[in-house]
Amino acid sequence: MHLATHGQMPEPFGVTGRGDDSADRKEANRAIGVSAIGLAATGLVELAIAVLSGSVGLLGDALHNLSDVSTSLAVFVGLRVSKRRPSDTHPYGWERAEDLAGLAVALVIWASAVLTAVISVRKLAEHGTTSHLGYGIAAAAVGIVGNQVVARYKLGVGRRIHSAALVADAQHSWLDALSSAGAMLGLIGVALGLPWADGVAGLAMTLFVCHVGLEVTRDIVRHLTDGVEDGVIQAAGGAAMEVEGVEHAHVRARWMGRTLLVEVEGYLKGDTTLQASASIGLEVERAVASAVPEARFVVWSPRAMPA
Ligand SMILES: [Zn+2]
Repeated sequence: MHLATHGQMPEPFGVTGRGDDSADRKEANRAIGVSAIGLAATGLVELAIAVLSGSVGLLGDALHNLSDVSTSLAVFVGLRVSKRRPSDTHPYGWERAEDLAGLAVALVIWASAVLTAVISVRKLAEHGTTSHLGYGIAAAAVGIVGNQVVARYKLGVGRRIHSAALVADAQHSWLDALSSAGAMLGLIGVALGLPWADGVAGLAMTLFVCHVGLEVTRDIVRHLTDGVEDGVIQAAGGAAMEVEGVEHAHVRARWMGRTLLVEVEGYLKGDTTLQASASIGLEVERAVASAVPEARFVVWSPRAMPA
């Protein structure tokens, strides 16, 4: 089989995928990109003031925001690499590149959690001081406003293009505004004469960073170990068996980067023609894709029902 000699044959294995709604994807990507720039600016302002004031609460919040940016960055880089077309040496394409990028991001996030924890504990133990409280509180306010603006923007775009991922991401940013409020609370505490409040805020920020780390790591490990979300197999199998002509179906699935690859083994009556089996296969693909929207790649394997 040579890729070059296909002529008017269809795309091999339909790799370009169905449901590749590129206009919506472009808009989602723009939303993620614009948000990442906003969050990066927010995080850098906080980082600079954290260094100036010695506030570990602010440091933790800055690292959290920058961790969130790095996850978006990985999605971005992954998207670019994963667009490369399949070839003889990479017959399934490059989609797993995104998972590898995610793994690197997870390591950076855990490292920043450890850093925040160590610095917070040390500051508490050594009764470290915090200066420039006014700047610090202003920087935390930047964190609150920055995350709120980003959350509203992502929610708007997400609702318009019906992207559950973007809406969830907006909720995440909304929670992150609370995290910045925590950093602010620590600094206000210091201003009110409680010098330990900033160290405690730093520990709370550590928990927030760990939360991001857990989420990212869980998703990536699941994908890399060929795991799928609950209910996917049941939904795909149910959809396949609803199709006229399919007597029974076995389904398995796994992630390839952001593509869910679904394999359907469909049992047909023994006297089904090859032509009919092919059109039942198309019908199954359509049914599975609408029952499991993330299934962009369905492999149909017809089998004869045992007599
Ligand atoms: Zn976050």
